[in-house]
Amino acid sequence: MVKFCSLSSGSSGNAVFLEYNGTVVLIDCGVSCRRICDMLLKIGKRPEDISGILVTHEHSDHIKGISVLTRKYHIPVYSAKNTFENMPETNCVSKDFQHFITSGNEFSIGSIDILPFSIPHDAAMPFGYAFQMGDKKVSVATDMGKIDSEVALHLKGSDLVLLESNHDTSMLIDGPYPYFLKRRILSENGHLSNDQAAKLAVSLARTGTTKFLFGHLSDTNNSPDIVLNTMLSSFEQEGFYNGKNIDIAVANRYSPSKLYTL
Ligand SMILES: [Zn+2]
Ligand SMILES: [Zn+2]
Repeated sequence: MVKFCSLSSGSSGNAVFLEYNGTVVLIDCGVSCRRICDMLLKIGKRPEDISGILVTHEHSDHIKGISVLTRKYHIPVYSAKNTFENMPETNCVSKDFQHFITSGNEFSIGSIDILPFSIPHDAAMPFGYAFQMGDKKVSVATDMGKIDSEVALHLKGSDLVLLESNHDTSMLIDGPYPYFLKRRILSENGHLSNDQAAKLAVSLARTGTTKFLFGHLSDTNNSPDIVLNTMLSSFEQEGFYNGKNIDIAVANRYSPSKLYTL
């Protein structure tokens, strides 16, 4: 059985839990080691259960707790060589635990088959991940400035997708952020808007994806209600109704989402 949940989501820190047939992996570790351990405990797991950590990219909201967690529990970490090289010294991973992976090359941790793929974001070598576990597929894609055809292709066929829905575009444009930051977020290497996420999600629903968890919401330029309402109206226009033929949820900023079982 596949078990999946977002432990923490947003610019204050990201971490995702995935388990299949006794193998546990984390995707990112952007909160403190102590908080990760607390949140794992809430879903009945311990840090000793983790077989590997997959890092999407080197921004601090994705690696904040990784240095302490790996040193304390001797957990292997997987990411692009460039990503390890660009981690700040305070958050870096000891060379003993670094495992280099490359976009498009599948590898396995225990019973989980993993395909890293490139995503458009302003980091050294940012990855999304597609996980194949028996006949179930789960994908994680956050921190993307746009949806390109490669990303859409890798997400296709997923049973469950964790997708970024960072901002409401008009809230961002009219909001308090300085101009340079607005430009960065809106750029093709920035973050995905609710409308962009909705468009991709609906196209994935058309090809069979039924579970959507939207995450990495901006605290200033978005809200869970706005995301949910944007998604519900986009899905309903295409004949998908939450709780009936589709399951839509928003990942919490500071606490675990519901635990999905597939
Ligand atoms: Zn980032
Ligand atoms: Zn981020």
